[in-house]
Amino acid sequence: MTIRLTDSVKNIIHPSVQSRYLKLLEKIGVKTLDDLINHYPVRYEDYSLISEIKKLQPGGKVTVIGKISSFSHKFTKKRGFTIQQAELDDGTGKLKIIWFNQLFLKNIISSGINLSVAGIAEVQGKSLVLQNPEFEIVKSDLLIFPYDRKKVLTNELIHTGRLVPVYPETKGLTSKWLRNKIIGILDTPIQEWLPPQILASKSLLDIKTALKEIHFPSSEELLAKAKTRLEFDEIFKFQISGLIRKKQSDKKMAVAIPVNQPAINEFISSLPFKLTSGQITAIDQILSDMNKLRPMNRLLQGDVGSGKTVVAAAAAFSAIKAGFQVAFMVPTQVLADQHAETLRALFKSYDIQVTLLTGALANSKFKIQSSKPYPDLIIGTQALIHNRANKLIDKNKLALVVIDEQHRFGVEQRGKLIDGEPAPHVLSMTATPIPRTVALTLYSDLDITTLIDMPDGRIPIKTWVVPETKRSASYHWISDQVKQGSQVFIICPFVENSELETLKSIRAVTTEFEKLKDTFRGLKLSLVHGRLRPKVKTQILSDMKAGKIDILVATPVVEVGVDIPGAKIIVIEGAERFGFAQLHQLRGRVGRNNSQSYCLLFSSDNFWNNRLKAMEKISDGFHLAEMDLKMRGPGGMWTTLQHGWPEFEIADITNVNKVLEVRRIAEEIINDIDKYPQIKTLINSMLEKTIALN
Ligand code: ADP
Ligand code: MG
Repeated sequence: MTIRLTDSVKNIIHPSVQSRYLKLLEKIGVKTLDDLINHYPVRYEDYSLISEIKKLQPGGKVTVIGKISSFSHKFTKKRGFTIQQAELDDGTGKLKIIWFNQLFLKNIISSGINLSVAGIAEVQGKSLVLQNPEFEIVKSDLLIFPYDRKKVLTNELIHTGRLVPVYPETKGLTSKWLRNKIIGILDTPIQEWLPPQILASKSLLDIKTALKEIHFPSSEELLAKAKTRLEFDEIFKFQISGLIRKKQSDKKMAVAIPVNQPAINEFISSLPFKLTSGQITAIDQILSDMNKLRPMNRLLQGDVGSGKTVVAAAAAFSAIKAGFQVAFMVPTQVLADQHAETLRALFKSYDIQVTLLTGALANSKFKIQSSKPYPDLIIGTQALIHNRANKLIDKNKLALVVIDEQHRFGVEQRGKLIDGEPAPHVLSMTATPIPRTVALTLYSDLDITTLIDMPDGRIPIKTWVVPETKRSASYHWISDQVKQGSQVFIICPFVENSELETLKSIRAVTTEFEKLKDTFRGLKLSLVHGRLRPKVKTQILSDMKAGKIDILVATPVVEVGVDIPGAKIIVIEGAERFGFAQLHQLRGRVGRNNSQSYCLLFSSDNFWNNRLKAMEKISDGFHLAEMDLKMRGPGGMWTTLQHGWPEFEIADITNVNKVLEVRRIAEEIINDIDKYPQIKTLINSMLEKTIALN
């Protein structure tokens, strides 16, 4: 049977275990064989030193190859505990091997078979022992005992005798299993898609060699070359898809929204505060973009609390004044509620109809009370892109789409709202600050405005990494602060990878809540987590805003954009579980008015306590984001957390020069695409996966 890379991974898994493995693989985003060979190791175990038993030294990583001269399987006194013991003979000496509780070994290992084992030899009594080594049966016909070691085909070894790949940890999915599967796929024909002249001019490995070497490196040098090639591919694909999106969008027509400057000025002077110069510049830029016949595609980025909402409100105001409709898309219902309230307040002296649409409402029998056939501004979550919402959207009138926290939406979701022609102008906003240069390379299809100044009078938040020994002292301090009028967030970590983890997390956070109620007796505490009904969540947050709650114990649901000016203290438990950028987001929930605010970070781990100190010194989100990006090694702990950046397996996107170089090549190719049929095919398959770009 020939297999193709586009085939499902199902095809290479035995039917009896298929459903279990498919689930595990899906967790790591693997559906096809192609996905699987693009699942790269996080590190390599260096077992490339193959030693004669006679010369074996304790302590170092080593591989020994020989013939099994005895194997036994023993029960011990401890119930349910077994020992598997073998002796390996390579002609120069004998080596004892011990495994614990590996019952299945008796079906695999027996006297007379050739085995390669890898691990660290230890002294036990007078002899050396290998405990729980990696092992594999050596099939090589060349291994005729006693053999010439040089002739052993180390090529056929995949778990020992080489740089052995170790894959990101997923429970139930071992590196050994993955190695066995991946080695099989590497035998299939793998089509090169980069033109030979680029391979040559950049001295890149061909794709098949690169994939072989990233999984089963023959040397450190080739491994480095494989990484370079795959990094090139990763950046290249990303740039190409951005360039295509830009091309498609540039082809579209939009309506030009006239700028009514006197009305805008009046709106601005009606605001309860003076805009910063950054906000004013941003508004000018956006209004002038929207005054063009090309759809605006602008990203407004600014640190948490820099005041992006009011910039979007001014843009919306301008479009509505000119008789158009505006849609405002936000990632969570809580945020939708909050924004609706904020916008209604900002527009209160105008005849502007703001309608809130949420998943719950969209599914119920929902009628809007309005004298107008369509609301001027409709605000909602993903529900906005579903049918029901489209009845409230007049495609001919929709001139502006605002996407808040845009990094939380997939490209497809964004695409659906802005489909059609004339295309609406799009203003995306993000508080996940990215260094400007990196942003340029990441969002190649967007124009970028950055709010660099904060509203006047903001005081940097004091951040402390608190050692466990000072926990109860800090609780006393918090109590005092509450008595002086501060409100507090206590953020507990929440894992939601599976139903089981979610339930466990809810239980953990509920237990913690009960404890805290006891600690802070006499104060008003409340608990909010992701699994509460949206209505309940919103109610709790609005109670918090109204000052009816002193301490809100919460999971990271409060992360995105929640604006509660009275909150002055945020406590983050398990801080090591968050990336710097996310911690910064969480910290941004306080310090939203002009009094001193505090952020207390708790972590049970000293190693992390030291790293977290960076949060004490750095209050600039851009700087933290940069550190975060640098730390996000492939498969590193950060990748499992939601940051909102596109996931890169190996590319270092902070290497701006490299990214720009690849982008130049991508541009050249796109402009002359008919010359590169392979790349055209690749693009088409990429397009199928993203939006139907018409
Ligand atoms: P973000 O950029 O994080 O979305 P928001 O738009 O929620 O920030 O603004 C944060 C807070 O700052 C809000 O309470 C808002 O009313 C207030 N704000 C915005 N602009 C200014 C300004 N120029 N001066 C004072 N306060 C402002
Ligand atoms: Mg915001």
